[in-house]
Parts: sequence; C-alpha cells; structure tokens
Amino acid sequence: MSLDLTEILEREGYELVCGLEVHTQLNTRTKAFSAAPVDVWAEDNTSVNEVCAGHPGTLPVFNAAVLEKAIMLALATDCEINELSYFDRKNYFYPDLPKGYQITQYHTPLAQNGFIEILLGENLSEQACDKIVKKISKKIGIERIQIEEDTAKSTHSKSGSLINLNRAGTPLLEVVGRPDIREPKEASLYLKKLHAILVYLGVSRGNLQEGNFRCDVNVSLRKRGAEKLGTRTETKNLNSFRNVEKAIELEALRQLTLLKAGRPIEQATLTFDPEKEELRLLRIKSDEHDYRYFPEPDLLPLHAGKVLIARLRNILPELPEARMKRFVESFAISSYDAQVLTSDRALGEYFEEASIHYLAKSKEKSAKKVANWIMVELLRYLKESALDVENSPVSPTELAELIILIEEGAISGKQAKEVFLKMFDEKISAKGAVKELSLKVLDDLAVIEKIASELLDTNPAQIEQYFAGKDRVLGFFVGQIMKSTKGQANPQKASDVVRKLLEQRKP
Ligand code: MN
Repeated sequence: MSLDLTEILEREGYELVCGLEVHTQLNTRTKAFSAAPVDVWAEDNTSVNEVCAGHPGTLPVFNAAVLEKAIMLALATDCEINELSYFDRKNYFYPDLPKGYQITQYHTPLAQNGFIEILLGENLSEQACDKIVKKISKKIGIERIQIEEDTAKSTHSKSGSLINLNRAGTPLLEVVGRPDIREPKEASLYLKKLHAILVYLGVSRGNLQEGNFRCDVNVSLRKRGAEKLGTRTETKNLNSFRNVEKAIELEALRQLTLLKAGRPIEQATLTFDPEKEELRLLRIKSDEHDYRYFPEPDLLPLHAGKVLIARLRNILPELPEARMKRFVESFAISSYDAQVLTSDRALGEYFEEASIHYLAKSKEKSAKKVANWIMVELLRYLKESALDVENSPVSPTELAELIILIEEGAISGKQAKEVFLKMFDEKISAKGAVKELSLKVLDDLAVIEKIASELLDTNPAQIEQYFAGKDRVLGFFVGQIMKSTKGQANPQKASDVVRKLLEQRKP
C-alpha cells in the first residue's frame, strides 16, 4: 500500500478502531431449517421448497449438521459454548426475504468470548522464533458466533429485478469480531486466519467469489488515548481480503476529513465498489431495536450437550496454528514461512510431502529450500496459470527431486529455474526435464582451474585483499567464474579450486 494510514492518523492524533463481522456459508447437504438441498449450481429457483419460500403454514425443522459445524468453529476459536441457545426473528421487509423475517440468534447465541491469534512479524530467525512470536502476535477477540439463515438473491437489470430463492435458508455462521483491529493489515490477517480455520475444519467451502465468506467492516476513529469510541459506519459484503483493506483505509480517511472539518460522523451503511475503488452511501443505518427481535416460536432451544462437544473436540483436525508450530519444529523453517505455508490447507500438505521426501535424501536438516521453492517459484507459476496447488503440474516429490539435483551438483541453481519451468509446462519429472534440456554442469576441474587461474592473474589487488583477511574476495572470484561459464560451473567445485589456487599464491 502506497500510503500508510496509521502514520497519517497518528500525525492528526487519531487512532483506527475496526471490528469485522463475517458471514460464512456452511457446506451442509441441506438447508438450515428445511430439507431443500444446498446447491449453488442448481438452476434458478429449483433448490427450494415451501419452507424457504415462506409459504403459510410451513414450519422450520433444524438441521443438526449445522450445530455440529458451528460447535467445531467455536472450539477452534476458543469460544465459550452455551449449553442452551435460542433462535430469534429479525423482522424486516425486503424482496429477498420471503418470510418477512430472518431466523437468527440474538439474545443468546451459540458461543461467545473467543479469539483468533494473528502473526504480524516477518522473517524471524529460526532459533529465536518462539520468543519473538509472543511479542509480535496479537489476539483479535471474537464477541460471538451465531447461527442464522441466508437470504435469497436478487438480480437487478434495466428490464426489472429477478429473484432466485436457491440461496434462501442456506445455513450461515455470523462471526462477530471485537473492535480490536488498529490497522488494515491486521484485518486481512484476521480474515485469512478465520478463513483457513473454516477450510481446515471442513465446515465451509470457503469460496470467496461464490459468496461463501463475506465480510462487513465497522470503522470508527477516536482521539489517541481516549476510551470512548467514535461513531462507526458499516461497509457491507466485501468479498476479497484486498478489498477489505482498501475499504477500511478509504473509510478512515473519509472520517478523518470530516472530523478535521468539525463535522459529525453519521451512523451509516456503505458499500464498496471494487471497480472504481470507492465507497457509496447505502442508507442511514437502522438501530437494532428497529428489527423488533423476538424469540422464534416455531423452534426449540438449541442444546449443545457436553457429550456432543466432547465428541467433536475429539475429531477436531489439526488447525493452522498447531500445524504452523509443528512445521517450525519438524522442518526447521521460520515461523513467517510456516504462516504462509499453513494459510492454505492444501499448500501445507504439499509442503509437508515435499519436505519429507527431501529430508530423506538430503544432508540438510532443514526444509528451508523446499519452503523457498514453493513460496517463490511454485506459487508464482500457479498464480500465473490460475491453478490451485491441488492441481499443480509439479508434484511435491518431483519438486524435492529437483532440489536434490541441485545439491548433488547435477545442475546449477540457475539451470534449476529453467528445469522447473519445463517440469511445470510439460508435467514431467525433474530428471526427465534435465535430460530433455540436455543440461550439463561444468565440473571438469581442469577447465575450472584454467578460468580461475586467468582470473587471479588479472586481479592482483583482490588477491592482496584476500590475504589481508577479506574472505569476501573468495565470493567475488566464484561469482566471476559463474559469470564467464553462464552459470554452468558447479559452484562448490569453483569455490574449492579458487581457494586452492589462492593458497598457492600465498605471499
Ligand atoms: Mn447476520
């Protein structure tokens, strides 16, 4: 980001206060309160029954799978779970809500008082990482997790508006975060972590484009050091991490301009236009009491019993946090790398498989090289080809094989990039790609010696520096050899040769 919001606010004596609300669709087979299937690909208005269409005389029946998935998220975010929670009606009229109310949880939600921990630092040293992680990680509080239902979807065009009821009644979890966020970056880190947790748990498809994970952003400013919160606005339905950061930044700057001019902030609902990158006023926000919440008379209280919770706790999969710590310990990589690699469940699995294969063959104790290859080359090419890591043309074991080939001196580091590209484009093995490219590494000692010896002859000043204790000169000579052989020389052999020839010229 070009401008630093925090710096601007600091200069003016203000601080950002931001809290996020996330609506995530659960990947249940059927809807929250009826047996209609949840199917985003179904033809319009076919994945619907009388309950989702709000026909008179129909009654909701709660889908128990929703409760199980909700409890798993509550456990994964350290929330307290209420043994009894209740459904309420939130009343408002809108064409995408045929019943005239949304079933949600208002007075007593399923769970409250949890948190998600985010890691703010980068590139930590491997040994010191545990200490540093504590200093630069931050807990973002979760106020509550409630179960509710999605609305239908309207599409507006010049010829009129259309309604598709397929989405109506799809189970949602609303995760209300505490206003603990002080920078746009913290917001996207929190969202990425929450998203990763949902995907690791397998409770949501987590597809942002399909609207499985939508975020509302509450933003206010306050004078630095003040306790009292300023008036906040809400920006609705952001569906990318980048847009969340952008919307927070724009809204904070808009509020700053108003405050500096002595004008009041109005409690409002805004939308973000991702194409124009600007905010638009949707409406002056209704107060909570306008929704006339009251207990849902057609549903029993929700019972989250100890036995059920214990059973779910037992089958909880390894979560990003735990996997991150395990990667740092087992594969000796930095916690920053581990955070990137565990941000996506499939990416972590790729890294793990590649590293196990690599460490079994290499003399190295750390899988740092594997982490680097994945984060730099693999992710770049996957992104350029719009592929998921699950569909990577280079398999984890073949990536490990490629790194082993470099270590064995069969190819140089520079050649390896070319080999990788060939493996990626043609879906072939590392050895196969090397063969096809007919790459050779120059490790003929006589040839390297000849080049090195000529170099030493023409650089007497560097030789003097070397014997005056400047070890870096060795790197200079090796670099020159690599340059004159177009990267083909085996760097280890080049280094050995230079060292040997230098010793012969010791004054
Ligand atoms: Mn909601």
